[in-house]
Amino acid sequence: MASKQLSVTLTGVLQAPRLFRDLGSGVGILRNVPFSGPNGYFCQSMGYEMDIVPLHEWLDMKEQPLVISGPCSAESEDQIMVTARALARIPQVRIFRAGIWKPRTRPMSFEGVGTAGLEWLRRAGQETGLLTAVEVANPSHVEEALRYEVDILWIGARTVVNPFSLQELANGLKGVDVPVMVKNPVNPDLHLWLGALERINMAGIRKIIAIHRGFYFFRKSPYRNAPMWEIPIELMRLVPQLPLICDPSHISGEPGLLGPVSQKALDLEMDGLMIESHHDPEHALTDRFQQITPAALRELLASLVVRSEKGSPAFEDILDELRSEIDKLDGELIQILFRRMSIVDEIGRYKKDHNVTILQLERWSRIFEERLKMGRDAGLEEQFLHRIIGIIHDESIRRQTEILNKPAEENGLNNQKES
Ligand code: PEP
Ligand code: MN
Repeated sequence: MASKQLSVTLTGVLQAPRLFRDLGSGVGILRNVPFSGPNGYFCQSMGYEMDIVPLHEWLDMKEQPLVISGPCSAESEDQIMVTARALARIPQVRIFRAGIWKPRTRPMSFEGVGTAGLEWLRRAGQETGLLTAVEVANPSHVEEALRYEVDILWIGARTVVNPFSLQELANGLKGVDVPVMVKNPVNPDLHLWLGALERINMAGIRKIIAIHRGFYFFRKSPYRNAPMWEIPIELMRLVPQLPLICDPSHISGEPGLLGPVSQKALDLEMDGLMIESHHDPEHALTDRFQQITPAALRELLASLVVRSEKGSPAFEDILDELRSEIDKLDGELIQILFRRMSIVDEIGRYKKDHNVTILQLERWSRIFEERLKMGRDAGLEEQFLHRIIGIIHDESIRRQTEILNKPAEENGLNNQKES
């Protein structure tokens, strides 16, 4: 029997005070950067830097990728034991998950086995050496889970949407040393996700993992929950020290997409995967279309390519060279855009002086066609050309409109004839 890596204690010390370091001085404040996602929403600084224990300091990361697996819901002792034993034989699986209290849309659905399942989970953990994890949605779940020595708690997507619930959970976690995983909220709102993580961190929980499980999306999509990768990527940029694990099961909704979603998560340098498994998925009481057997999980993991973050020194040298070339070109691009806009302004003032309209459709159509052809001939992609020519044109119109509407004396140049 493998020994457990982690011990959970109810008497842990609250470690919040350190979290507030640097507030006010501005040092260490990570984020003040607007985020514009597919819906044009923004993420702006709260001036709070999370204090997080690196994953490798509390989890065995030898086998890559780190995998959390187990059924969507605990259903019976037999199901838990059979599934856990099979998973424990897969080297990458370190954490055994099972829902005990299930958030269901309709009240007559199976809502989890409740406390009885915690005893099964404790047994599965003791017998296999896997760490155990359950979803908690309120402080009494936290209390129950800790009483039964659950190793890791997670907060589900439906709970994360509600700051009141999050604060209640955070209050319940004060003084407790237990790792907490926070799923993204159902709706694509990075602020809510960040807020939940911050509340939990401010309660003194320093072993935190964010879980990307995809977002509700109104458009038709092959996914059950659209991955919207730009949101977890933005989270990584804002809080680089925060471990991030992908949950391809809730993103995919079916086994066929698990491979590509898992591979993409690894290629984005996420820290691991949470994949639902069941010894008999067809008869699962919840999420039966997306669960796979432990044998299928083993196969899936074997098919993934784990690429390293860093290459050999020679590889790094060439990469550095190529990157400095990109840096130089980006600098030139910005300079060229600046020069282009200066001429746009000059044309704007000239048009104003001569009472000529800003948008001359015939010229715009010609520009568009010519630039498109130049780009196509240079091998650039059509959609990209459409977007970039459009953006440059929009900005030119905006600048000229501003010039046209400014009182004459503010335009500076060429006002002599008005005197
Ligand atoms: C789950 O992990 O089974 C679950 C309910 O997930 P989510 O909160 O992401 O919907
Ligand atoms: Mn599920």
